[in-house]
Amino acid sequence: AAPTAASIPSQAPVQIAIGVKKEEDFPTWYTNVLLKADMMDYYNVSGCYILKPWSYSIWEEIQAWFNTQIKELGVQNSYFPMFVAASVLEREKNHVEGFSPEVAWVTKAGSSDLEEPIAIRPTSETAMYPYYAKWIRSHRDLPLKLNQWNSVVRWEFKHPQPFLRTREFLWQEGHTAFLTKPEADAEVRQILDLYRQVYEDLLAVPVIPGIKTEKEKFAGGLYTTTIEGFIPTTGRGIQAGTSHCLGQNFSRPEMFNIFVEDPNDSSKSYVWQNSWGLSTRTIGVMVMVHGDNQGLVLPPRVASIQAIIVPCGITARTTEEQRQKINDACEELAKTLKKAGIRAKPDLREGYTPGYKFNDWEQKGVPVRLEIGPNDLAKQQTLAVRRDTGVKSPLPLENITESVDTLLKTIQADMFKCAKEEYDSRIIEVTKWDDVVPALDNKCIVAMPWCDVEACEDDIKERSGRAADQDERAPSAGAKSLCIPFDHSRFPAIEPGKTKCTACGKDAKHWTLFGRSY
Ligand code: AMP
Ligand code: ZN
Repeated sequence: AAPTAASIPSQAPVQIAIGVKKEEDFPTWYTNVLLKADMMDYYNVSGCYILKPWSYSIWEEIQAWFNTQIKELGVQNSYFPMFVAASVLEREKNHVEGFSPEVAWVTKAGSSDLEEPIAIRPTSETAMYPYYAKWIRSHRDLPLKLNQWNSVVRWEFKHPQPFLRTREFLWQEGHTAFLTKPEADAEVRQILDLYRQVYEDLLAVPVIPGIKTEKEKFAGGLYTTTIEGFIPTTGRGIQAGTSHCLGQNFSRPEMFNIFVEDPNDSSKSYVWQNSWGLSTRTIGVMVMVHGDNQGLVLPPRVASIQAIIVPCGITARTTEEQRQKINDACEELAKTLKKAGIRAKPDLREGYTPGYKFNDWEQKGVPVRLEIGPNDLAKQQTLAVRRDTGVKSPLPLENITESVDTLLKTIQADMFKCAKEEYDSRIIEVTKWDDVVPALDNKCIVAMPWCDVEACEDDIKERSGRAADQDERAPSAGAKSLCIPFDHSRFPAIEPGKTKCTACGKDAKHWTLFGRSY
């Protein structure tokens, strides 16, 4: 019998397309996936990478969605220069202390030294706020809500990793100013929830929203809210996005002096400011969470190709006419799907076997493969193969747009559910110190009643670090606080005066997540 599409060996010899297994050598697996999926290339400046179209298109999806959302909140896009004068950068003491080790400086133009070195922005608070002071004059100028899509440079000395930690990275940074603290507080949370949606709804990656401890908050800010992601393979947490309330720290008179005058008594109100940023780290987290030993696995919502259509079952005995018919059917199917808004593409490359094409698109993570062979054509169906589970199902060409659409939505939902179950199962509630390190070693993060004291946090990091068998590529082997989750509903109530800090035994304030982290 002629081979049916289903009998084409999609589960044929290629066992580990990526060369090494995710569970065995995660760092090599990660870069191999990125290279084989054609997402990035190395660059000849250390810590910098090229974002190729296959990854940049994901960033474009995130941009499109996020732009729509923030515009609805009244945020406008703008652009500020990448250079910051030294005197301005150094104005906020805590802020500059936090960033100065990572600031890159321009000191020369051609062969002559600059009179005053110019910093390349590591973030744009100090570049923007002198102008906020100029532009904000009266109540009518508030709120001021600006965003920019740009790149920033932080000369990180921790081990660089594509997308996760790079020396130049793409992000958006929003900077807003309000008359009152409640307005600023409300926006901090609104933006954080948009970030949560980028991860959970677009990238199918679960995150935990919460507040950073004093030690981990943004330098110079009042408080930092964060969404914390998790990489199950390494058991490490990762800061996935941050929304900061800067309070009046940057607006006060000794700083940028941003105020409005009360029309009644001409008293001055210093504005309340927020800043918030989400970077291309998103893409790295998505790759790490969903990728497998065949390569990348893309959530349908951000995949630039959602369905790849591959002609199959062509043998030496297939007539040219039959072959043409199959190719035509593939093209026709792509057209039909595209009309319905599904990003479909036929792969009609000659000189490649279906097996080669399957492998190629699997490595690139395309969510659905649709195979069409002579038998499928006769039955007016296509064989759909899911990238996330490998599950195959024949779909009638009649109603194909509805069934593919449903399938894509199912994949999106299943990928999230799967990752969420994994994350949830790796959060271990710990109330005895002796259980902390074993939980970490078990690739979990710990939730513990905690005292909220910075010295205790330093101590936890110290005591949970492993001096021996440390992976030198591990950015931090001691546990850091990840966040104090907003949602405490999964934990037993903290009883004031009774519940004790797992680490130091003093009174506990909140359940706090600690983990090894990126
Ligand atoms: P921050 O301004 O420090 O709060 O950074 C905003 C967000 O950018 C963080 O929440 C990270 O997710 C991300 N981020 C920070 N540093 C890097 C880096 N070196 N490479 C990529 N993303 C980063
Ligand atoms: Zn403590």
